[in-house]
Order: sequence, then structure tokens, then C-alpha cells
Amino acid sequence: MLSFLFKKFAGRHHRKYVEKCRPIVTRINEHELGYQSLTDEQLRAKTDEFRARLKQGEMLDQILPEAFAAVKNAARRLVGRKVAVCDHELSWDMVHFDVQLIGGICLHEGRIAEMATGEGKTLVATLPLYLNSLVGKNAQLVTVNDYLARRDSEWMGHLYSFLGLTVGCIQQQMPSDLRREMYGRDITYGTASEFGFDYLRDNGMATRKDDQVQRDHWYCIVDEIDSILIDEARTPLIISGPAPIEREQPFTRLRPPVANLVNDQMRLVNRFVTEAVALLEKKDITEEERQTAALKMLQVKLGMPKNKQLMRLMENPEWRKLLDKTDVEMHSDFNKEQNYKLKEELFFTIDEKNHQADLSEIGRTRLRPDDPDAFMMPDLPSEFIEIEKRPDTPEEKEAAKLAAQQRYEVVSEDIHAISQLLRAFALYERDVEYVIQDGKVLIVDENTGRVMPGRRWSDGLHQAVEAKEGVTIERETRTYATVTIQNYFRMYEKLAGMTGTAETEATEFHEIYKLAVTQIPTNQPCIRIDKNDSIFKTRRDKYGAVVKQIQEASQRGQPVLVGTVTVEQSEVLSRMLKRAGVIHTVLNAKFHQQEAEIVTRAGQRGSVTIATNMAGRGTDIKLGEGVREVGGLLVVGTERHESRRVDRQLRGRCSRQGDPGMTKFFLSLEDDLMRLFLQGNLASKIMEGQMQEGEELEHKWLNHSIQSAQKKVEQQNFSIRKRLLQYDDVLNKQREVIYGIRNGALHSERAKDIIFEMIEEELAVRLETAGYGEKKGTSATSLESLIGWLNSHFPISVKSEELTGDVETLLKQLVERIKQSYALKESVEDTAALGGLERYIVINAIDHHWQEHLTEMEELRRSIGLRSYGQKDPLSEYKGEAFRFFEELMNNVRLQICTSLFRSATNREAFENLFAILGRSARLQGPAAAPTALAAATQASAPADEPAAAPAEPEIKLPSITIRRETPKVGRNDPCPCGSGKKFKNCHGA
Ligand code: ADP
Ligand code: MG
Repeated sequence: MLSFLFKKFAGRHHRKYVEKCRPIVTRINEHELGYQSLTDEQLRAKTDEFRARLKQGEMLDQILPEAFAAVKNAARRLVGRKVAVCDHELSWDMVHFDVQLIGGICLHEGRIAEMATGEGKTLVATLPLYLNSLVGKNAQLVTVNDYLARRDSEWMGHLYSFLGLTVGCIQQQMPSDLRREMYGRDITYGTASEFGFDYLRDNGMATRKDDQVQRDHWYCIVDEIDSILIDEARTPLIISGPAPIEREQPFTRLRPPVANLVNDQMRLVNRFVTEAVALLEKKDITEEERQTAALKMLQVKLGMPKNKQLMRLMENPEWRKLLDKTDVEMHSDFNKEQNYKLKEELFFTIDEKNHQADLSEIGRTRLRPDDPDAFMMPDLPSEFIEIEKRPDTPEEKEAAKLAAQQRYEVVSEDIHAISQLLRAFALYERDVEYVIQDGKVLIVDENTGRVMPGRRWSDGLHQAVEAKEGVTIERETRTYATVTIQNYFRMYEKLAGMTGTAETEATEFHEIYKLAVTQIPTNQPCIRIDKNDSIFKTRRDKYGAVVKQIQEASQRGQPVLVGTVTVEQSEVLSRMLKRAGVIHTVLNAKFHQQEAEIVTRAGQRGSVTIATNMAGRGTDIKLGEGVREVGGLLVVGTERHESRRVDRQLRGRCSRQGDPGMTKFFLSLEDDLMRLFLQGNLASKIMEGQMQEGEELEHKWLNHSIQSAQKKVEQQNFSIRKRLLQYDDVLNKQREVIYGIRNGALHSERAKDIIFEMIEEELAVRLETAGYGEKKGTSATSLESLIGWLNSHFPISVKSEELTGDVETLLKQLVERIKQSYALKESVEDTAALGGLERYIVINAIDHHWQEHLTEMEELRRSIGLRSYGQKDPLSEYKGEAFRFFEELMNNVRLQICTSLFRSATNREAFENLFAILGRSARLQGPAAAPTALAAATQASAPADEPAAAPAEPEIKLPSITIRRETPKVGRNDPCPCGSGKKFKNCHGA
């Protein structure tokens, strides 16, 4: 009831928005009518006029009606023209409809326009893109794949260029100078990952301003926004390369014992199943025996959730219900102990919903009979207390603690690796979750069924799967730069989106991106018929019915589009159709362009097309001749997707622009969604006991039950994404700070100011540590170490008697002295190269420590998970630790800058000159001021008659000096610093 009211209310709210837009639409059309009498040149001149008016302070909203009118009028002038799009010739036949103008207003206002498939969103986007690019900043459109970026930019490009605008598109593998050119244009099309990676390269990797390619993050429309911000949001963008130090991989070592363990478990659960069946099939089964059987089934579920025999068992609704009931009961606190016992009878337990795996006591013993504790987390605090109690020397205790800590690290890494290997074996199925190609493990996208080359599961899972499959385990990598898709898009001043399906996820869009969803009415009323779902007992029955339905339709000449959830299912169905003699096409999602062409033909008479749910998105299906008469396109779903949105997308493929069409879903009790989430509720009650093999069930109520199961999954996935974001928010703030400093250095001619700021901060910290400005004051040792540090880092030869006065003045004096020394250095350096050197000092310090920090943060994420059993909230623990890590990072960066300022030079000659001059100037200041650091460093070249340093000062040596090369040293296999993404040896190092 409530949801019904809400829908009504929500509907009213959308209508209100549309009504609000009507007067603007009228004005746009009035202007457009006026423009019809202009010459082409006069129309084109509007663009410059608008630009000028914006410069004079007019607002975008004020010129919107005229700007939209100009675009619409340009479209009108193009009608009938032959335009080239992706090497094909098309005839332009579009002039913006009124609802499209409303969509355009909605996008300009930074909302999500929900417009059904085929409503012409590509054309809608031209209106706000044109308008928002007029301010002189880059207006961008994000598409789901490279092909669509090219297609839409070329297609709409005719319209833009008619109005005197430039448009470009970013493609994979595009070299960076071309990218820069594309971003330099008024409007740029590209995919989310290309944009995101360019951002990361610009801010985290480019070492020169000229290497950066993006201009700004001003206005962006995300096409198919749900697909990008929701489906893809769980995989962050990561630029990574080989880690500098190679750690030993525990996966190879642990794979054989874990594989054995998995086999043992398999035998164990098979025995349980057999025992359970034997009991359940007894005619005079007692209540106690029933209970025993139920617990055995539950153990199978805990130990091997995807066990085939168990699944077959679950086809019996009575048994299924028994298991569900027992499962729920065992989760109550009351049965905690028994639940624990059940788990301890298994070698390990797998939590399918939460993707986790844990070893039990017998599992640990089976893995390491000699030392079952090898895979138990040592209790570090107690161990430390024990060590403290020993009669050892402090050094021995320290060594013992260190050893304990190292052991702890090794064990926690092993436990982690085992858990990932167990998951890899028990939950990740080859050709479902991943495929093997050319000896590599490639992830299959669960939504699209596409393989995603280059993407890797994080947290060691990928290595675990590689170990399982016996392919080469890719070297451990170091993260150079990373950002989540969510955080990338939150950088835009104005963000908007369009899709056919946003409504079900409106809360998420609002909570995370502050984006409101507005439903735009269709141009023609939609006359699609959505049939009730049909439910079967087994998959086999289901597919049988699907094939029958397809056969019937295609005999009538009605085209059919069949949506599947995985590639594997597409193939199963294809084999069945072949046997039934039905000619069909399978989209296996390898090439977007080819795929688009196949999808275009999916509306022809009698054609049958099988595709994973989202393959060919963005390409609309036009009906062939005579197809309307036989009912238009028939869309058949072979499984409900986890999220209602994806189902809506599939349904939306038919009945575009008022066409006829029909959709129907076929389900079975064996489908994942039904198996996992449709437990113990209405639907299974209905089917209880009565469902026979081959029988078909169909009722409105069932649709509701299934929807509520989907809602459950959607919510669960939303909280996973939200959690990911909460964690990433921490890193995001840190990234902003770091990239801010880095960009500051990159964009200044001279990074001197940043360097001296850092030095000042470091000095302030050190003065404080030495006791300045503190109650207890300085001590001889603290002073000595401060002087030691100062003199070993800066050629300013400080003496203890000079370090007096209040801390503020002292700080100023010290900084001033360092600046003077630096001025001397500048006088001998190659001035042209000095700016580069300074930038290098800052950037090198940042990159080195930031990358290390990223790795540490990843490890922190992992260990927080292990630590989180107390009452503490892992997220706040994480935040606290992250803050400490970040402080440490900043300390390290500062320190490295202090260290390298006087130890790098643009060339060796300059370096030697520096010492000569510093030596002379020091002498000019008086003999007592002989710089100790310098004396030590220039021993060889110091004149023989140089008076020795005052014996009271400790002797300090400068560590070996690094002379900077033309470019920073890059390993041959490292990524090229130009940002091309290629290895150095294949790019600038060739
Ligand atoms: P969407 O992205 O909303 O699914 P597309 O942008 O792919 O839709 O457009 C679908 C089809 O509608 C295209 O073939 C396009 O040529 C056509 N179309 C869009 N707008 C118009 C219009 N105003 N007049 C005529 N045809 C249009
Ligand atoms: Mg589209």
C-alpha cells in the first residue's frame, strides 16, 4: 500500500517537473521558429554571440532557450543530409522532439533523465553539451564503450560542427598528444575508464605539466549512468606496475595442500548428502532423524554451497523447506554452540553470500599435521607480555619481539592466502566467473558476460585463482594511482546522467551523488505487454519452455531477443536451439561494433538473437518490415537478474517509440536468485509439495515475491558499494591533498616555495622535538642531534651557541640561512634546468611515498577485517590508522625533500661549483664558520691548508650524492613516464 502511494506521489513529482519545463519548451520553439529564416552563417554566428554574452555576465540559464533553439534549428537544417558515422553513411532524420527538449533541460540542471530506450538520448545530450561548452570549458559525455564514444561523437559531431564547435573522442590506446588534443576540443566523448585513467595519469604520474592531457572537470553527462555508477562502481580504477621488492608468494606453496583439503571436504560433504538422503527417504522417519538429516544438509551448504547433489536435493520443496528452516534456526543465538559444532566438523566453511572462507580446527590439522597452530593468528600482545617477563637483556627482548612480530605477519599472510585459495576453489567457477585465455585469468563481468582484460580481483584473489589454475602467477604489483569511479565523477562541477532505468536506484543516486532522478515521458505512448513470469521446477524444464516459445514466435515471423545472465547460459541455449533447428545468432560480446551491427538486425522478421542482458546496449533495435503486424519484438528473459534494473533494461529493448512488443521471463527453482534469496517466503510456500517436473507456474503474486527477493539483493549490493565508498572517502581526502601539492609543483615554474614550506615545517617539528618552546627545554643530547641533523642536510654550519632565542625567531633565522645557501646554489646551476630539478625533488618524494602509502593502506584494509572482532567499528579503526599513516607519509615526504635539496644538481659540474663557492663564501664569513658538512663532503677537493673543523662539533658525512640525469631514472620494464601506459623500453626508452 505504502509503495503504491509512494509511486503515485513520485509520479506526480515527475509530472510537476515536466509541467515546470513546458513554458521553457515553448520559448525554445518560438526562438527556433525565428531562426528558420537565418542563413547558415547567421545561425553559426549565434555560437560566438552566446559566448560573448556569457563573458559579459549572462547566466547559462538565461541563454538556454536560445542555445537549445540553435541546436534544434541546426538539426533541422541537417535533415536529409548524408552523414558519415563509423565508416557508414546515414541520412540525418532527427529534429528534437519536445520531450527531448525537456530531457535536455533536465540534464543541464544536473539531474538524471530517465528516458526509455529508443527515445533518442544521444540527440538529447547535444543540447546541454552545446550550452555548457560555451563557457570555454570542456563539456564531456561518458559512454559505456569505446565504440559508442566514437559513434556518438561522429554522429552528433555533424550537428556540433554545423554550429562551429569542435568535438573529439578518446579511444583506448590513444597516444597522449592526441588525447590532449581531444580534451582540448569543446566537447569530448569517451568511456568512464579512459577519463578516469587519464585523471590518474595526469595527477599521479605525469612529471611535467605538458604531459597532462585533461583540461578541467566541468560538465559531464554520463550515458547509461546506472551501468557506470552502479554496476561498475565496485571495481576501482588502478594504475599499477611491478612492485620494487618481490615478496615470496604464499599461493604456490599453499595451493597443493589447499587443493587436497578441498577434495577432502568434497568427499566429506558427499558423504553427508548421501547420509541425509538415506534418512529422508526412510518411510518411518522419526522426528530426530529428520533433524539429523537437516543438519547434515546444512553442513553441506556451509561446506560446499555449490555442491551439485545438494542442489538436486533442493528440488524437493519439502526438503528445501526443511533446510531453510534449520538454517534460520541455527543462526539464532540460542543455537550458537551447536552451529559452531557443525562448522567444526567440516574442514572449512564458506559463506557464499558474504564471500568468505574460514578454516576449522580439523582443517588446520589436515593442512599441517605437524603444527596445527601454524595457521592460527598468534596472540601478539600476550606474547609481548611473556617476553617482558623473561630475565633477558633489553636487546634480547627487543629481538624476541621483533621475531614474534615477523612470525605474526607471515602467519596472517598465510591465513589470508588460504582463505583466498578456498574461495577460488569453492566459489569461483572457470568459464562462469572467469575464463583462461593465453595462460591468463580474465575476469568475466557478471552483468555483461564480457571478459575484462587487464582487470584483476584485488586482495590476492586473482593470484589465488591463478594458483588454482596453475597458470603463471602475475608478479605482485604496486599501486601507482587509484580512484573509484564514484570519486572520479564527484569531482565534476556539474554532473548529469541519462538512462532508461534509474528509478529503482534513485535513493543511491541521491545519497551518493546528490543526483535527482526525473522520469521524462515518452514521445509516443508505450504499448509494451509485460507477461507474468513462468516458473519451472528445473532448469531443464525452463529451457525447454524457452525453446518452445522461441520456435513458435519465429515460425510466425516475430523476431526474438533472448537475454541471459551469463555467457555460459547463452551457449547452453544456443546448443538447444541448434538441436531444435532454430536459426539464431549469439552475441558473445567480443567486439562492440560487430555486436552493435548484430543487434541492429535483431528486429528483422524471424530473427532470433541471444545475448547476455546488457550486450549491445546503446544500440537500438528497429523493427523490420511486417514485424509490427506479428506483434513487434519479443523479449525473452531466461533468468531474473539480481537487480530489477537490469531486467527493466532487457524489457526496454522492445517497444521503442510506440512500437508493439512483448516481454516474458522464464525462471526455475534452480536459478541462483531463487536458490539464494527466495527462501522461506511466499513463493516457496506456494510451490511447496505441489510442483511437479515439467509443470509451469504463473501468477501475479509470484512476480511480487521475486521482486522482493531482488530488492533484498539490491540493498545488499548498495551497502557493499556504500561501504567501499566510505573506505575510499578516507583515501580520497588524502589523495586530494597529495595531488594538490603535486599539481602545485607541476604547474609552478619553480617549486621552490613548496620546498621551503616543507623545510620550514620539518624544522618546526624538529625544534619542538629538541625541546624548544617546551617546558622542559632542550637537553645536551637533543641539541646535539638537532645540530647533527641540520648540518648533515643543509650547508649552513650551525653551531650550538647560535641555537638560542625564542623558537619562532630561531625558525625564521634557520630558514633564512638555508635560503641563502640555496641562493648560492642557484647561482651556479643551469637556470633553465633548475625549475625541472625542483619539481623533480617534490614529485619524486611524493610519488615514492604515496605509492608506498597506497600499498600500506590496502594492507590496512585487509588487516582491519581480521581485527574487527572486538566491539570496535572497523571503519573508525581504519580512519584512525589511516590518519596516522598519512601523517607518517607527510613526514617522509618532507624529510626526503630536505634530504634531496642540496644533494641533487642539474649536473655534476654545477654540483662541484656549488661546493667551491660555498667553501669560499664560508671563508668570507670568517674562519670559525668552516662548514662541517661541507668539509666532510669535499674532503678530496678541500685545499690542504683548510683549517680543520672545530673538534667540538661531531663529524658528519653527507651520504653518497646522487646526480640527477636528464630524466628521472626509469627501469626498462617500468611504465614510461610520458604516461603512454607502455613500458619504458617500448616507448621513450626504445
Ligand atoms: P536511446 O539512447 O535513448 O536508446 P538513441 O539515441 O540510440 O536512443 O536513438 C534511438 C533512435 O531514435 C535512433 O535511431 C535515432 O535516429 C532515433 N531518433 C532519436 N531522436 C529522434 C528524433 N527527434 N526524430 C527522429 N528520430 C529520432
Ligand atoms: Mg543510448
